[in-house]
Amino acid sequence: MLTTNPFDDDKLREECGIFGVSGASGAAALTALGLHALQHRGQEAAGITSFDGTLFHTHRAMGHVAGNFDRDDVIRGLPGEVACGHVRYSTTGETALRNVQPLYADLSTGGFAIAHNGNISNAMKLRRELVRRGSIFQSTSDTETIIHLVATSNYRTLLDRFIDALKQVEGAYSLIVMTPEGMIACRDPLGIRPLVMGRLDGAVIFASETVALDVCGATFERAVEPGELVIVQGTEIRSIHPFQAVDARPCIFEWVYFSRPDSIAGDQSVYSVRKEIGAQLALEAPVDADLVIPVPDSGVPAAIGYAQASGIPFELGIIRSHYVGRTFIQPGDKVRHLGVKLKHNANRALIRGKKVVLIDDSIVRGTTSLKIVQMMREAGAAEVHMRIASPPTRHSCFYGVDTPERAKLLAAKLDLGGMTDFIHADSLSFVSIEGLYKALNAARGDKPSYCDACFTGDYPTTLTDHDESSTVDQFAMLAERVA
Ligand code: SF4
Repeated sequence: MLTTNPFDDDKLREECGIFGVSGASGAAALTALGLHALQHRGQEAAGITSFDGTLFHTHRAMGHVAGNFDRDDVIRGLPGEVACGHVRYSTTGETALRNVQPLYADLSTGGFAIAHNGNISNAMKLRRELVRRGSIFQSTSDTETIIHLVATSNYRTLLDRFIDALKQVEGAYSLIVMTPEGMIACRDPLGIRPLVMGRLDGAVIFASETVALDVCGATFERAVEPGELVIVQGTEIRSIHPFQAVDARPCIFEWVYFSRPDSIAGDQSVYSVRKEIGAQLALEAPVDADLVIPVPDSGVPAAIGYAQASGIPFELGIIRSHYVGRTFIQPGDKVRHLGVKLKHNANRALIRGKKVVLIDDSIVRGTTSLKIVQMMREAGAAEVHMRIASPPTRHSCFYGVDTPERAKLLAAKLDLGGMTDFIHADSLSFVSIEGLYKALNAARGDKPSYCDACFTGDYPTTLTDHDESSTVDQFAMLAERVA
């Protein structure tokens, strides 16, 4: 697994980013640009499928978008005015090229390519039944379940088959589908994972985040609504809502960490929300200190908010080098620990003798927090206080986010005192769940308007596979069998 930032090793990791364009010449090149802007959502593999009016073309590769899709020969091999793409970090389905999306199949209705952000929480159950009925799976990805449900549906048209398939799946899905008739983009009825829509000179563009529209020079039009299917033919769109309406529950962690700060999510600037979370944190957990220091890079907006609300100066107490190769941070590699110091260094002259407040967005296992606190102490800090811009992460995510098993989550194992001791901080505080909602101009109440299950355990869907046994274990067994 490649990470661009060793301080990100101890984060929940968004599984995927998706991008699609219809009605633009050079659709694949635009898709490569869009995927580049979404690279933070998945760094393990990337793929693009294009349609030239007759044939589908696909290129999928392990690794980053740059290096795979910035080559003329690759883009020339993906002709057409319609394309979709995917960046991936896997949680279900092992790391193998056959699991890299977009997935493609020739159905009785014609070619069918699909890019998925999310996780289908009853995929194993559906898969068992499909296999029993004769389906032959080519991958271990939960996304392939949708293809087989479409293929075996009794409905006649592709659209009806697709809706029929979606009505059988539970969990989180933002999807971009390409068929010879056009493109379909949709979000699950709860809108757990994001998807937005834009225009570029008439062409229709879909992306996980608005930053991908910005990078292409497209205009942000609106979010695809929870439960909405947007059907595109050329540059014409129509919208349907085939599911029973339910109250939306978008993933609150998009504003905490996943989305880029320059994205707009749910009509709110992600950067501004993060600053507001920092301000809430300053109100809820004040501390007598000399400096507010962000853990780079994701802690920066909340640290600015904390500093502005508390009046304590914001300073860059940890300096990040942008010139360290990724080869230093391979998992299991001894140099990984060395890599942390190569990439991040304490600003000693600033820190020596000072009481510092470190601001980070979240604590997962706590291993990185421990290293950062140690780094501050070695640099001569008089006191090190840690403030976290999200509530304690106590539960696993089953909606397309890589989470360690619950037993490895620091907040699931230890109370606040235990966590403070574990990271060797002088004090530790988390923003409250109410404070987090307040930063989003919302109140949690009895009917929360976001999914916040990793903090509260209040999952907005049934978790069929997980309830039966561990999804991850089932897919691991499956992977072993097909390897
Ligand atoms: S459990 Fe919900 S809030 Fe937490 S990461 Fe998953 S989708 Fe987001």
